[in-house]
Amino acid sequence: MKKPEITFDSIPSSAVSRTTLKICLKCAFDVFTKQLKLTPRTAYSELKKHVPEEVDFTGAATSRPHFFANAKTDHCPYCNGAKRWFADFHAFRIDATPSLEKDRKKLWTVLRKKPERFSLWTPERTQMQIFSEWLERLNRGLNFDDDRWLLEAALSHIKRSAPSNDWDEILSSGVRRVQLSRQVDDSWRYEDGWLYVSPSLYGDVLMVQHLLSRSHQHGGRTFEGRLTFQELIRRLRRIGYFEAKKIDSDDPYEMFEQAVARLVDSGPSAVYYAVDRKDYLAKLKSVYEKKRDQ
Ligand SMILES: [Zn+2]
Repeated sequence: MKKPEITFDSIPSSAVSRTTLKICLKCAFDVFTKQLKLTPRTAYSELKKHVPEEVDFTGAATSRPHFFANAKTDHCPYCNGAKRWFADFHAFRIDATPSLEKDRKKLWTVLRKKPERFSLWTPERTQMQIFSEWLERLNRGLNFDDDRWLLEAALSHIKRSAPSNDWDEILSSGVRRVQLSRQVDDSWRYEDGWLYVSPSLYGDVLMVQHLLSRSHQHGGRTFEGRLTFQELIRRLRRIGYFEAKKIDSDDPYEMFEQAVARLVDSGPSAVYYAVDRKDYLAKLKSVYEKKRDQ
């Protein structure tokens, strides 16, 4: 019987970010065989241990032999090698809230049984860093020329604020609008394509939209239109956001700072990486065997 494939489906998709990083095996072998003058066999045993670093996956410092590819990429950007030299690393980053830890630990126990295939690491992060990195990833994935980004950003925050696998099911017929409502029992209610949210959650959404867009435009763009900092604070006050968040201050900057702190504190508190090397190890082996038999 075939063993079930390992999946990350037990973790809510809003808490997982997946990245596929390519490696060119021609470049990788060349470093060892041409530059270091090692035999293909030694190169192979060295390369079997290889795991890209976090900065390769984030794009902060992706360097040879690693690169990102789209459907059109059919040659290595460094050596022009053909597609058959490419192999994939799949990185799964989990931003974990305490409520996810049980499922995350369970999954890690399974992954640890395959130490060759899965490389696991836990980078040190403050909650503020986790929040900023999430904003950055969100920022990179959004198209600010199309107003639909407002809804995408809102849903991304709402799902993140209550990570659960149920979201995909609940929202499967789509969300046309996020609407402020004082009549929701908890923090949200979904009905006929509309997602009704509490003042507290709606205010969080405005905060996130403002944080995302204020560097792109003058002021920040939100569901409530383009708002300067002062206008944002007035709008949040009017919807009862600060009251709901129990933020007691008259100074707009302090109110804003405290609101950001609440957003950060309510978010994930730990980061975990799992890098799946299955495709890489298989391709590496087949490239090596061809080299050896030549
Ligand atoms: Zn190459």
